[in-house]
Amino acid sequence: MSVKPCEGSPAEREGVVKYRLDFRSGPAPRWAGYPRLESWRRVLFHLRLVGKDPGRYGGSSYGNLSQRFGSGFVISATQTGGMALLAPDHYCLVERADIEANRVVARGVHPPSSESLTHGAVYQAAPRAQVVMHSHCPDIWRHAERLGLPKTPPAAAYGTPALATAVRRLVETLPVAAVLVMAGHPDGVLAYGASPEQAGRLLVTTLARAWALNLVNEQEEET
Ligand SMILES: [Zn+2]
Repeated sequence: MSVKPCEGSPAEREGVVKYRLDFRSGPAPRWAGYPRLESWRRVLFHLRLVGKDPGRYGGSSYGNLSQRFGSGFVISATQTGGMALLAPDHYCLVERADIEANRVVARGVHPPSSESLTHGAVYQAAPRAQVVMHSHCPDIWRHAERLGLPKTPPAAAYGTPALATAVRRLVETLPVAAVLVMAGHPDGVLAYGASPEQAGRLLVTTLARAWALNLVNEQEEET
């Protein structure tokens, strides 16, 4: 089946098939990490780092979270960004995310996020990463350089093997937990770590630092 458009740029809204999805419909995995991961998703939702807004990205859902599970990972299903709370059934099991073959094998009640390949790239490059949070944040994205955040190249666009490869190469050079910006994916930010708390704290701290830069800019404009 084709992958529905998800979060972000105009190309995403056109319904372009970005990777081949082998999806088996069946029960969603029950994993012990659900309450902690979903609680952090709720935090991100309230901060509008995950969501669905008529004024952003043509009204498409944006943002998705995942957690390692067995030899794969569980990830929020496609088009769930606008939901304040996801049930376990809104998470899908990605059994394989093969960047070279541009192919994702998944099982669940709903198909996985269209950005599954990017999450898979992080897990491949960072063996100790347990959680990946993909958010859309204009403030962090805009201030990436002043925040000293690593960036993937602008040419690596959303949902493509090129982006997944760029993410994997970049993450291989980064610590066990980090925040990075995807320059070719407008507002796209990735945070990952050894736990939901580690990734979530990093992301929220980075957001506060970006907001501080906004305030500095406003003060400079006033004087
Ligand atoms: Zn995105």
